[in-house]
Amino acid sequence: MFNFNFNSDIGIDLGTATVLVYVKGQDIILKEPSVVAINKDTNNILAVGEEARSMLGRTPGNIIAIRPLREGVISDYDITERMLKYFIQKAIGKPMLFSLKPQIAVCVPSSVTEVERRAVEDATRQAGARKVFVIEEPIAAAIGAGIDISRAQGSMVVDIGGGTTDVAVISLGGAVVSQSIKIAGDNFDEAIIRYMRKKHNLLIGERSAEELKIHIGTAFDRTIPVSMDIRGRNLITGLPRTITVTSDEMMEALHESITAIADTVHTVLENTPPELASDIADRGIVMTGGGSLLHGLDKLITHRTGINAIIAEEAISCVATGTGKYIEFAASPVGSELIARGEKKKPKKYRHFD
Ligand code: ADP
Ligand code: MG
Repeated sequence: MFNFNFNSDIGIDLGTATVLVYVKGQDIILKEPSVVAINKDTNNILAVGEEARSMLGRTPGNIIAIRPLREGVISDYDITERMLKYFIQKAIGKPMLFSLKPQIAVCVPSSVTEVERRAVEDATRQAGARKVFVIEEPIAAAIGAGIDISRAQGSMVVDIGGGTTDVAVISLGGAVVSQSIKIAGDNFDEAIIRYMRKKHNLLIGERSAEELKIHIGTAFDRTIPVSMDIRGRNLITGLPRTITVTSDEMMEALHESITAIADTVHTVLENTPPELASDIADRGIVMTGGGSLLHGLDKLITHRTGINAIIAEEAISCVATGTGKYIEFAASPVGSELIARGEKKKPKKYRHFD
């Protein structure tokens, strides 16, 4: 197969829920769930991405689907490496001659450890990169959202993915204050499942919970309430049953999770130096990631902080775009200077894991 992508810069968003590949000049060329189906008995990989997800729940007992980055940490190196290589090869073809190999930037959840970062770097090089950059999600999110990160000006990015929410204040190419919590889109789904069981004695699957969240999920009072029918298994009779769920109920179900996110934004703001906090108050808070699309979450954050929260355009793909664009930033005189300075002075982090 002739490959048009050689020599281009490539950005990969290795997300907890979704992997996206961006190629300079071609935009997003791959978007698939970060799911791998393996045979439990032999440990062989049977499918990756969309194909693996479609096997979920439809396979014999010895086949299981894994999300190796689910919690924002790499639960299985080997599987993560193979998944990453599969996506790189699907996007750019087989490894090429050195001179034709692309530069690849990979964005990892900011909670991964140094050892995990190195594993991602090695896997990317082996998959065919001439040069590899491993960057943290908030930086990529900021670039992708159109923020000029090289300026001495504070910007706040709130990235809500599947497994983790990352809140960071960025200035001069680095995160000045940041916090990562394991409460994001997956947690919203789990909260909905729990709510349905408790309130309606109805057992629903992850897919149904996600549908409820996307269609009628609510973080802040809706002016016009909405409702949706959902099917599950009645826990008392054991039989299928359909019930109508309202957005007000979803707000109740999601209350705890969204409060934790708003609290984290609040804590990061409290720990932000005053000059940068004042920049953020002027410019607003930028929200990225699929979870930021939960209805009313931007309003809730605005309400809690008194600072305008804005959902980035292309909220789901902007981390991948920003990752690809990071390569240009790193090559620019300002970017390389800032990165060298940042290496010496590691950012101050406030993290807790729930
Ligand atoms: P990651 O970067 O961790 O891979 P993503 O940014 O792709 O995650 O976001 C995935 C999460 O976003 C999932 O939990 C998904 O259900 C959720 N999501 C996607 N679209 C919406 C929407 N319109 N409303 C609410 N949640 C959404
Ligand atoms: Mg993400």
